[in-house]
Amino acid sequence: SRPPIRTAEERLMVAVRIRPLRPDESTRVLYAADKKNIVIEDTDKSDVLRHKRGVDKQYSFDVVFGEDSTQEDVYNATVFAYGPTGAGKTHTMVGDRTQPGIMIRALNDLFEAVKDNEDEYTVTMSYLEIYNEQIRDLLNPASGYLELREDSRGRNIQVAGLSEISTTSTDEVMLLLQKGNKARTIEPTAMNKTSSRSHALLSVTVHLAGSERANKTKNRGKRLQEGAHINRSLLALGNCINALSGGARYVNYRDSKLTRLLKEALSGNCRTVMIAHVSPSAGQKDESRNTLIYADRANNI
Ligand code: ADP
Repeated sequence: SRPPIRTAEERLMVAVRIRPLRPDESTRVLYAADKKNIVIEDTDKSDVLRHKRGVDKQYSFDVVFGEDSTQEDVYNATVFAYGPTGAGKTHTMVGDRTQPGIMIRALNDLFEAVKDNEDEYTVTMSYLEIYNEQIRDLLNPASGYLELREDSRGRNIQVAGLSEISTTSTDEVMLLLQKGNKARTIEPTAMNKTSSRSHALLSVTVHLAGSERANKTKNRGKRLQEGAHINRSLLALGNCINALSGGARYVNYRDSKLTRLLKEALSGNCRTVMIAHVSPSAGQKDESRNTLIYADRANNI
């Protein structure tokens, strides 16, 4: 089958960000060769001393953000963050008071832009978690598990009963995010650093005055069956990325909640940037390699 033809704007942009080595980490096995290329060394220093030949692997992406990249450098448009625990996703997306991340910058810009037209625009947000293929409203955890609804053509995917909260400032959103984060499911295998079963999705919507507010159904979702497919969302995302990057004619978005919600973003109907996160440290080499392979496939979409 022929690969789908995409314009530069429709392509999924893939960026990789390398976080700085922490003081307790000493060996660097991964570095930015230039603004588009990243190198991961495939032997450690002791092998080199034993005269074993190292095979360094180079990967090319749309953008590589090196260890010295600032939050300002990384600030961009529509983004999903990918990478193992501790690789720097939260730092890129949220950051802290002194180094605010993408979400904070985007919201500041948004509130600044609508500031003088408060009668015309309202801004609302929702924040949900997909854990174990179950969707929970992080701003109203008491509402239980929520269901995905879509129209008969499989479009307009919505989460039934998800709360939409009206916001007027970044500080308000930050408070809501902090509150929501407290409601996130603590991973029972938190010690297992490669497990990542919890996906959080923040949606910010700008409503024009006069547009009808969606009728909020108060329906609670049916309890979803606990399944053995605990990491189904991430696997399904990988399958979609594989299918899209191989130019497949049929891409199965229906396999998981995450892929159903990201369908529009992945299928080229909006501008999407994926920022994969890696640590330069020798201790995380396997995770870094896996992340680069995943991002490399996404780079073909
Ligand atoms: P994740 O959300 O992927 O689990 P974090 O964003 O919490 O990872 O990052 C782990 C630690 O590394 C945090 O203490 C964070 O502040 C720090 N860190 C990550 N990326 C950077 C960076 N680019 N610059 C400085 N510190 C960083």
